[in-house]
Amino acid sequence: MNNKCPWCGSEKAQPNLQLKDEFLTKEDFRIFECMDCGLLYTEPRPSKEKIGDYYKSEEYYSHQENKSGFIPKLYEMVKSINLKNKYNMATAGKTEGKLLDIGCGVGDFIHTVEQKGWQCIGVEPSEDAKKIAKTRIKAKIIKSEELEQLPNESFDVITMWHVLEHIDDLKWQVGQLQRLSKKNGRVVIAVPNYKSYDGQYYKELWAAYDVPRHLNHFNKATITKIFASAGLKLKRTEKLVWDAYYISYMSEQYKHHSLALLRGAFRGLLSNCKARRSGEWSSMVYIFEKKE
Ligand SMILES: [Zn+2]
Repeated sequence: MNNKCPWCGSEKAQPNLQLKDEFLTKEDFRIFECMDCGLLYTEPRPSKEKIGDYYKSEEYYSHQENKSGFIPKLYEMVKSINLKNKYNMATAGKTEGKLLDIGCGVGDFIHTVEQKGWQCIGVEPSEDAKKIAKTRIKAKIIKSEELEQLPNESFDVITMWHVLEHIDDLKWQVGQLQRLSKKNGRVVIAVPNYKSYDGQYYKELWAAYDVPRHLNHFNKATITKIFASAGLKLKRTEKLVWDAYYISYMSEQYKHHSLALLRGAFRGLLSNCKARRSGEWSSMVYIFEKKE
C-alpha cells in the first residue's frame, strides 16, 4: 500500500469503504482513513489527465436547460431558495465587499451576490461552465492556478460550495484560502458529511461519496483541525437542508429501488430530523475566520 494522506502526508491509513463510481463508470474505488489526521480520502486518485473523463456527463450541466416536469421544476425552486440561503450565510453581518467563489460553475451564486452589489471573482476549471457563466455575470473567471497571482488579503469572503471535496491538492488550496482572506475575513466551506444519518444509512451507496469526483471526505472534527492548523478558526456551522433529500434520492436510485423519490424523501426527512439533535447534517457549511 503506498497511499498518502492528501493533507498530512502520512502513509498510515486504514481501508474504510469499498465502493463504485455509481454515477458514471461503475469502476471500483476505496476510501481510506488517515490514522494521523483522520481525513477520509479516495483511492486510487485519478491523474490530472484522467480526472476530466469522470466529469464527462451531460448530467453535470444539464440543469441549466428549462426542462418541464415535476423534478426539474422542484429543482429550480429549491435552487432559488438555496441561493438566497447561501447568500445570507456567506455575507451575514457584511453588506458589501469582495467575494471569491471557487468552483463557481455556471455562475449561479456569483449572479446572486453581484445583484447585491458585491465585487466578485470566480474560479472554474470547466470551459463549458465558464462559457455559460460569462454570459450571466460581470465577474472575472480565472483558473485555479491563477489564484497564486492575486495579492494577499484580497477578499472579505471566500466561498467553496461543494468544491473542497473535489480538490486534489488540498494543502495548496487551504493555504491559498488563508493567504487570500483578509484579516477577520470569512471562508465558507460547504461539504457533504458522511457522519450524517443518510451517510451512515446508505454506507457505500451514499451518493455524496461520489467517487472518484470526490477525493476528500470530511467530518466536523477533521475539517476543523485541518483549517485550524492553517490559521482559519471555525466560527460556526450551518446546514443545507435540501441536500439530505437530493442525496437520499440519488442513493435510492443506486440501490435500484422502486419509488426512489418517495423513499429518498422519507430518508431525507429522517436525516434532517435526527440532525436537529445531533448537528450532523447531510451537507454542512463551515464558516471559518482568519486569525489575526
Ligand atoms: Zn492525514
